[in-house]
Amino acid sequence: MADTQLMQIPGHIDPLPVPRDITPREDGRIDLLGLPRTRIAELFGEAGLDTKAAKLRSRQVYHWLYHRGITDFEAMTDIAKTMRPWLAARYVIGRPEIVEAQHSVDGTRKWLLRTDDGHDFEMVFIPDADRGTLCVSSQVGCTLNCRFCHTGTMRLVRNLTAGEIVGQVMLARDALGEWPRSGQADLAALNDDLVDDEGGYSADGRLLTNIVMMGMGEPLYNFDNVRDALKLVMDGDGLALSKRRITLSTSGVVPLMARCGDEIGVNLAVSLHAVTKEVRDEIVPINRKFGIEELLQACADYPRVSNARRITFEYVMLKDKNDSDDEARELIRLIRHYKLYAKVNLIPFNPWPGAPYECSEPSRIRRFSEILFDAGISAPVRTPRGRDIDAACGQLKTASERKSRAELDRLYAEKQAALG
Ligand code: SAH
Ligand code: SF4
Repeated sequence: MADTQLMQIPGHIDPLPVPRDITPREDGRIDLLGLPRTRIAELFGEAGLDTKAAKLRSRQVYHWLYHRGITDFEAMTDIAKTMRPWLAARYVIGRPEIVEAQHSVDGTRKWLLRTDDGHDFEMVFIPDADRGTLCVSSQVGCTLNCRFCHTGTMRLVRNLTAGEIVGQVMLARDALGEWPRSGQADLAALNDDLVDDEGGYSADGRLLTNIVMMGMGEPLYNFDNVRDALKLVMDGDGLALSKRRITLSTSGVVPLMARCGDEIGVNLAVSLHAVTKEVRDEIVPINRKFGIEELLQACADYPRVSNARRITFEYVMLKDKNDSDDEARELIRLIRHYKLYAKVNLIPFNPWPGAPYECSEPSRIRRFSEILFDAGISAPVRTPRGRDIDAACGQLKTASERKSRAELDRLYAEKQAALG
């Protein structure tokens, strides 16, 4: 871990230093959420337990924490009664604070969350017939400045910690009431205000089955914390979600893509959005650092990609900007040239106040999609979800962050200048 913390990520803006994995709270207690089991055992050892006891207790606590969703040591029934106050005096099992929870008419749910130090970020749950997808944030704000993205208009406040990232998944499970049944009664008693069966997803079989790192922020610019959080999500003794059900979306941080495949091993989505340098430079400015050729080569080299496990290219449909027949054909050429196992997700642009683009006409999007399908490339159009609660993935925002057009232009110029 030490070497990655010191590593300089080649990019125009280096990410903020990775926060310490352990920040005691004001009352001196340590939040265990987000820590791997080995680290929990170390902490128990430092607090006075002998090696064997520390190992055993860490295994028990870890199980209650991630497998059962328990946040109160008193409810950990296989831990000796005398041991529970010892734990409670030194540790807590936290959750991000919920500032606001919204429920769309189409079943989509959005939560505005707050970190301990008072920064707001968002997560979204999107239920479908056969799956429930949680859209998770990796940063508060973003250092990048994709011109169509509302998050790009915010300054990067800071990286989220591994605990704050995995905490989103924990909260979603709390809210959907989907911890294993035997833990249910405890959970309901302890987290009364969090459990909300209103949506009835469990009854419909629409539980949290998939995770996409497509909320606020660029996950590869917070690599260590995203990796550590996803490891907890994938751990069979933890949240036990298969890596096949997790997708990380990057705007194209080429130097970290291979490590994402090797060290995390989840599915990759790439925010391509354009097929020429000119257009991609404008709408996804990281393209000036890592161009389309380099990006597609990194996709071709991404570990374990196959016909059954494809890379997803996200392509936001912007009227008269990137939506012509010629651009669809160029996309086919590129995919063939790099021999990519790929599918394309066409995303209707979701406008926000002051946005400099419009969404392509539905007939244009259909045509673009047809051209790709005719070439044998799957290119479904993503149905907008949760529009009534502003829940579209990739444009999460808080009312307090809304900026005027003039402010947006100023911020854009500032970030462009940083690109050199
Ligand atoms: N930073 C990462 C992940 C978060 S954005 C990335 O850029 O890939 C998730 C997806 O939503 C990206 O493909 C992003 O380009 C897209 N997106 C952002 N703003 C959007 C908007 N207003 N309308 C439609 N898609 C948008
Ligand atoms: Fe950041 Fe992704 Fe938005 Fe670009 S699209 S500004 S990388 S969150």
